Amino acid sequence: MGVAKQLYQLQEFDLEIESSERALSRIVSQLGESEAVVRVQNQLQLEEQRLEELRHKQRSAEWEIDDLETRVTAAEETLFSGKVKNPKELTNLQHEVEALKAKRDHLEEKALEIMDQVEQSETSVARISNELETLKAEWQRQQKQLSDEMERLKAVLSDLKQKWQLLSEEIEPQAVEFYQELRKEKGTAVVRVEQGICRGCRISLPTTDLQRARGGNVVQCSSCGRILFLA
Ligand SMILES: [Zn+2]
Repeated sequence: MGVAKQLYQLQEFDLEIESSERALSRIVSQLGESEAVVRVQNQLQLEEQRLEELRHKQRSAEWEIDDLETRVTAAEETLFSGKVKNPKELTNLQHEVEALKAKRDHLEEKALEIMDQVEQSETSVARISNELETLKAEWQRQQKQLSDEMERLKAVLSDLKQKWQLLSEEIEPQAVEFYQELRKEKGTAVVRVEQGICRGCRISLPTTDLQRARGGNVVQCSSCGRILFLA
C-alpha cells in the first residue's frame, strides 16, 4: 500500500474520531440535572409550604371558635341563671353574648373559606406531584439512553484510536508528522484525485505530479499543497 493511501486511511480514522468526539461531548452536555424537574420540584415545595400554612391557619381558627363557643356558653349560663338582677348589668351581658356570637359567626365563615383553600391546595399538591413523577420517569429514561449511547461511543472511539495507532505505526514517522501538520493547517490533509483534478482545490494537475502520485509517494498539489491520493 502506498504512503498516500495509508495517510488517506489515517485521515478517515481521524474524521470518524472527530465526529464521535463531537457526539460524545453533545451527550455529556445533556447528562445531569433536568431544568424541568428542578422547576417542578420548586413549584411543589412552594405549594406544600402554602398548604402547611393554610392548615395551621385552619387549626388556629378552629381553636378560636372553640374558645368563643365556651365563652358564649358561660355568658349565656350567667344570663339565664337569674343571678344577675340589675337591668343594666343584664343588658351589658346580653350585648356581650351578641358580640361574642357575631365574632364566632364571622370566624366560622372565615374558617370555611380557609377550608376551601386547603382543599384547593391539596388538589394542587397532588397534581404537581403527579407531574413531577412523570417528568422524573421521563428524565431517568432519557439519562439511561444517553449513558448507554455514551458507553457505545467510548467503545467506538477506543477502537478507532487503536486502529489509528496500528496504522500509523506502519507509516514512516516523518510522513505521519507531515500529515498531522498539514491537517492542523488545512483541515483536510489528503485529497483524492479524480480525472486528473485535485479534489481539494479543483485544479487540473500536471502529468508529472500525477505520475509521481500514482507511484504511491507523498506528492503535494502544486496549488493547494495537500497530499494527493490516486485511488
Ligand atoms: Zn489542490
